[in-house]
Amino acid sequence: MGSSVKSKYETYRKILEKKAEEVQSSMSAQKAAQVLAREEHPHDEGDLSQQSHEEWIFLNRNTLDIKLLREVQDALRRIEQGAYGVCYECEEPISAKRLDAVPWAKFCVSCQERIASGVELGNEEALQEADR
Ligand SMILES: [Zn+2]
Repeated sequence: MGSSVKSKYETYRKILEKKAEEVQSSMSAQKAAQVLAREEHPHDEGDLSQQSHEEWIFLNRNTLDIKLLREVQDALRRIEQGAYGVCYECEEPISAKRLDAVPWAKFCVSCQERIASGVELGNEEALQEADR
């Protein structure tokens, strides 16, 4: 049974592994580009403000990449653990349509929308508790 679950997500595993590789190579490409840019102007002090602006952009981009890479690696781990494709919040299966669009999705569409809209999670649970 375990192997059938694994093969079910084999396609996603491949997509995720490819994505992780892409992010990693784009990160090192950015780093290489930055090093090259520095070597072109080793002692240009007049360019300092420009440099720090570029560094800021570089760091900002890298932060997004690192975040994405973590989510991708997290999803790969969930496949290994057989916990892939289940919403973190409501524990309902995440639709194949959503996984096709965002293979590293942690939440189903409705939970993701709630999180994105800034509604505090847990409120609904508290209300349900009160109803009982
Ligand atoms: Zn959910």
